[in-house]
Amino acid sequence: MAVAADVTVGVIGLGSMGLGMAQTLAQKEFATLGFDLSQDRLKLAAESGVQPLSSLGEAFEKSGFLVFSLPTAKDVAKVVNDNLQILKDRGDRRLIIIDTSTSEPDVSRDLAAQLAALGHGFLDAPVSGGPAGAASGKLAMMIGGADGDLANAMPVIEAMTAKALHVGPSGAGNVAKLVNNLLAAAHMVTTSEGLKLALAAGIDPEAALRVVNAASGRSMISEVHFPTWVMSDRFDSGFSMGLMRKDVRLAKELADRTDALLPLSDVVAQLWAGSDWADTDDFTRMGSFKSLK
Ligand code: NAD
Repeated sequence: MAVAADVTVGVIGLGSMGLGMAQTLAQKEFATLGFDLSQDRLKLAAESGVQPLSSLGEAFEKSGFLVFSLPTAKDVAKVVNDNLQILKDRGDRRLIIIDTSTSEPDVSRDLAAQLAALGHGFLDAPVSGGPAGAASGKLAMMIGGADGDLANAMPVIEAMTAKALHVGPSGAGNVAKLVNNLLAAAHMVTTSEGLKLALAAGIDPEAALRVVNAASGRSMISEVHFPTWVMSDRFDSGFSMGLMRKDVRLAKELADRTDALLPLSDVVAQLWAGSDWADTDDFTRMGSFKSLK
């Protein structure tokens, strides 16, 4: 799909997800700029048709759309706030930020209001599908924000996704993502516990997993993550323990703020926060069922 060679898209954060998204956009003939704090990531981007930039400001000056793929809401807010003057100075008043980071609803709402006051747009647009989905343009995206901004950003969004769902106003995409990842985090624990039980009771865990995946206990975690990254002992899905811990913590904080009583999720949150795995380990380590960790 040759969409828009005249549309310049800047991708900020070229990590496990951002690099794949930038490569996908470049392959689909968007003029694609990239920025990351890491020189290594910039080098990788340059090798795949993405123009590396030496400053963030340049991305804010030259882009019609900015795709963010940053670790936390704090990073997202800092990147925008450090470039507010450029946003104020831009005469066209029509930059749209598509923030694919797993960020926080309140931060997204504040940024969307700030950007709207300057004539620009901000969509919270977190994603699911991992580095493979980013690299193949087949992510699932859950979006919060204004209809007009979404309509304008659609060609860029369509290039990156297999499914894009408009959940509601600003912040709604972040809430939906936290709901999703809380479930994925729980599935990682419950599937691991199910296989521990199979092992303890003398059944081959591979056979037990085949049964679960043919029956009602299955999830994407049991169907994809366990066969690919847990049973194989690969543990290299490209999503870190630290980032999933962040998501579970944010979901728990959201539940506390909204007075939602989630007793099972409280235990899930404790398990993710208290596990011995390091933040730099792959999150699929939480599925290990052969050891006591
Ligand atoms: P990552 O740590 O691999 O990449 C983040 C990148 O951002 C790094 O390269 C880092 O150098 C860069 N960065 C940090 N601050 C920056 C700044 N101020 N300016 C420019 N670059 C900066 O993380 P990731 O796994 O790619 O995840 C990115 C976001 O997507 C996170 O919010 C994560 O929760 C979410 N996410 C990840 C996955 C996954 O499978 N990895 C899936 C869905 C969503």
